Amino acid sequence: MAFAAAIAARVAGAADEEASARTAMVARIEEHARDVAGEALGRSWIDPRILEVMRRVPRHAFVPPDQVAHAYEDRPLPIGHGQTISQPFIVALMTDMLRTATGQVVLEVGTGSGYQAAVLAELVQTVHSIEIIRPLADEAEWRLRAQGHANVTVHRGDGYYGVPEAAPFDGIMVTAAGDNIPPPLLDQLKPGGWMVIPVGSGFALQLLMLVEKRQDGRLRTYQTLPVAFVPLVRGL
Ligand code: SAH
Repeated sequence: MAFAAAIAARVAGAADEEASARTAMVARIEEHARDVAGEALGRSWIDPRILEVMRRVPRHAFVPPDQVAHAYEDRPLPIGHGQTISQPFIVALMTDMLRTATGQVVLEVGTGSGYQAAVLAELVQTVHSIEIIRPLADEAEWRLRAQGHANVTVHRGDGYYGVPEAAPFDGIMVTAAGDNIPPPLLDQLKPGGWMVIPVGSGFALQLLMLVEKRQDGRLRTYQTLPVAFVPLVRGL
């Protein structure tokens, strides 16, 4: 009994530490937003609903064991296969740019670790996420299940073509940079929907773009911040 109680106390202590690390991470996101979010959001703060979710979702559960100690630092981290989990500030910013609402169905291109999908899953009804590197898709699917995110479906394949069988989407977020905005994704966006996507070639200068599909189907594109994403690869 004493042993079990000691273990329970230790687990509770670790959970407290992780929760306070997340609170500190969110405070850094808020500071960062004061400096640069204006260009992307027209305001210098992140929607409190998103910050509340990021205070809860355990980022450490989405990184490899050797990165757990860094999980709450505000920077991207390696997740294997030459890929990265995005910087928490960028996750917050892109989620905010997507203008999520409960009841929506959204698509993420580039599942990676599954962390961004988990954040979206707390804000909308259904998340479809597509990943081209099969082992990453498998691991992310496993983590999302372990974390109880039953409203996320992980697809395998080239996300340039979207997920036509689940379209149309209220919002589309692309977390890898292409040299153009994929036309199939524009087709799969609902009128009134928004897309967030980094555009730029390879690792060169990329700009985070916001695309609005108006009710009449016309597109408006806004350039926001310079960013650094891994490339959107094609046809593996
Ligand atoms: N959103 C992720 C970060 C992803 S990094 C997270 O929260 O962890 C970008 C991911 O996009 C990588 O896993 C990469 O393999 C994937 N990717 C690159 N090109 C792709 C494509 N054409 N279709 C689907 N996924 C792609």
